[in-house]
Amino acid sequence: MRTIRIFDTTLRDGEQSPGAAMNIGEKLQIAKQLARLGVDIIEAGFAITSPGDFEAIKTIGGEVEGPIICSLARAKDADIKRAWEAIKDAPKRRIHTFHSTSEIHLKYQFRIDQAEALRRSVEMVKLAKSYVDDVEFSPMDATRTDIGYLCEVTEAVIEAGATTVNIPDTVGYSIPSEFGALIKTLHERVPNIDKAIIAVHCHNDLGLATSNSLAAVLNGAGQIECTINGIGERAGNCSMEEVVMALRTRSDLFNADTNITTEEIMRSSKLVTKITGMSVQPNKAIVGANAFSHESGIHQDGLLKEKSTYEIIRPETVGLHKTKYVLGKLSGRHAFKTRLGELGYTLSDDELNTAFERFKKLADQKKEIFDEDLESLIAQEDTTVPELYSLEDMHISSGFNEQPTATIKIKIGGEAIEKTEHGDGPVDAIFKAITSITGTKSNLIKYEVKAITGGTDALGEVVCSLEEDNKSVSGHGADTDIIVASAKAYINALNKLAARKR
Ligand SMILES: [Zn+2]
Repeated sequence: MRTIRIFDTTLRDGEQSPGAAMNIGEKLQIAKQLARLGVDIIEAGFAITSPGDFEAIKTIGGEVEGPIICSLARAKDADIKRAWEAIKDAPKRRIHTFHSTSEIHLKYQFRIDQAEALRRSVEMVKLAKSYVDDVEFSPMDATRTDIGYLCEVTEAVIEAGATTVNIPDTVGYSIPSEFGALIKTLHERVPNIDKAIIAVHCHNDLGLATSNSLAAVLNGAGQIECTINGIGERAGNCSMEEVVMALRTRSDLFNADTNITTEEIMRSSKLVTKITGMSVQPNKAIVGANAFSHESGIHQDGLLKEKSTYEIIRPETVGLHKTKYVLGKLSGRHAFKTRLGELGYTLSDDELNTAFERFKKLADQKKEIFDEDLESLIAQEDTTVPELYSLEDMHISSGFNEQPTATIKIKIGGEAIEKTEHGDGPVDAIFKAITSITGTKSNLIKYEVKAITGGTDALGEVVCSLEEDNKSVSGHGADTDIIVASAKAYINALNKLAARKR
């Protein structure tokens, strides 16, 4: 049985999804979850692109134990040096450098010939190798590269010290039989191929990212690059949960498995959804809301008699449990701490105190507190966005024959400002009042309300995405009152925009 390495690029390629920009605290939260999930490598960012990316990689390298921490770098001196500075304190570290190899990229984008691209690639792999042993090289647009040249580049970068060579289907152009054959050819024609791991990085433009990655595994690939929920540039990347569960479910066929703790899959998916504001379609494989629901009477009948009649994966395997009542008003601090521990959260005393206060407040509004409620409560503890604006008070009136009116009080710096506005509905009125108080001029591009658990007293979670100067952020807020949750989400997004400006 071979072990296929999982290289997660949610924080780099995933962040390139429109609207999925994350701040350092959010990236750290995801990286910690990726470590619990058991990914082998975390591509934590692209160090040279911004000070924020650099800091995120550095912070993750210093705080997240387990996986190899990797930074992306173009095949340029300054990029590789910056990548090294970002990862150097991580106990396990990697530099991932890349250069285009396809005729179309070299001719139109770089205006250099194949020999020059090869020379730069080799030189930059050697430079990366002078800093760190673990070096990955990607010939960008590999699937549209002349195969003879691709073999030549692969051999040369391995010779120069690359320990992983990643074959990207950058534009999502390949199909499984063709991509599998490409990986096979590399294994047949590159003489030193056993000195490196062959990785694949597939995009989903034709809906084939997972299939192409699996075809590559059948032909010798040893590392898959993927993201949680398949987010990423354009149509996204290979989805981690799909490729991992395909390998696990059909290990008879692949004769391969991964180091992933599959029970952590659902939690990882929900966390990424929450932070990026990008929802998963209900019929999405593995993590969609309907992925384990059976509607057909014939199927239900079979399931009642024997689960394996219609169920190829047990829901518990991916961490899907029946929502159960866990805590309530009378639960004490100890029970609260224990349950959080069981869910994988360890909080400092201070964090625990504030979280417990919130819990008590929630327990007054809501009889039964579920695991999902607790997770939402902890997510709110993410205090990494400095709060320029904070919600002090609000009052709403709306009705059948009444114009919705919102009065809201917000603290900006030390000063509390109150305003009243009317709107088409209560949310509209609130957003107008907040906009007027803060004097901000962002556009609302998405507004979404979800109930975290069932019941009319459930916590409502609101995600709201704002755009300003071509930058977009997603804010979230949770409350048993969805109007209050809406105000919190809007203010959270404004705080994120303000933090990005500084
Ligand atoms: Zn990509």
